Amino acid sequence: MSTSATPAVHLVRGDITDQSVDVIVNAANSSLLGGGGVDGAIHRRGGPEILAACRDLRASRYGKGLPTGQAVATTAGRLDARWIVHTVGPVFSSAQDRSALLASCYRQSLRLAAGLGAKSIAFPAISTGIYGWPMDDGARIAVRTVLAERAQPVQEVRFVLFDAHAYVEFEEVLALRG
Ligand code: ADP
Repeated sequence: MSTSATPAVHLVRGDITDQSVDVIVNAANSSLLGGGGVDGAIHRRGGPEILAACRDLRASRYGKGLPTGQAVATTAGRLDARWIVHTVGPVFSSAQDRSALLASCYRQSLRLAAGLGAKSIAFPAISTGIYGWPMDDGARIAVRTVLAERAQPVQEVRFVLFDAHAYVEFEEVLALRG
């Protein structure tokens, strides 16, 4: 059994808004005012309290929007979680390597969750939808970054994958890491 402070990593196929965890991570956009994909699903099911909290953050701290690679926490509204951590993934570019920004999303979200005292956190595959990141590379960055963090008191990191393709890619990366 591992004695390190690295959290256990689990894969789940499904909808992130169905998860019961301390923190649900939202693949937000920098406006923090909602969008499609995971963002749309979280605001739809979480209710207006989350959007109101995001509006407050825009007014108080992020007038120009939340920068790419950063993370911020709000209430989880009606979702079965204590907090939503909103993070802004980079749009994929074949001309420019933006993987450090994608890694930053996972790292900053995890650190924020740990600072809040969360024991469990659910991540979607950030940037792999509307933002166009290839799933195999997105999975590698996600798993590698999470496994490199000491995340106490976070004990469980759950990647919630929406479709079979995403699940298989994450499974492959995790298997390689043993
Ligand atoms: P981004 O703009 O960061 O690419 P998206 O929300 O478009 O974010 O997609 C990120 C990933 O989340 C994609 O792989 C997409 O299939 C997946 N996804 C979309 N809706 C959900 C959901 N309700 N739960 C979990 N994953 C989802």
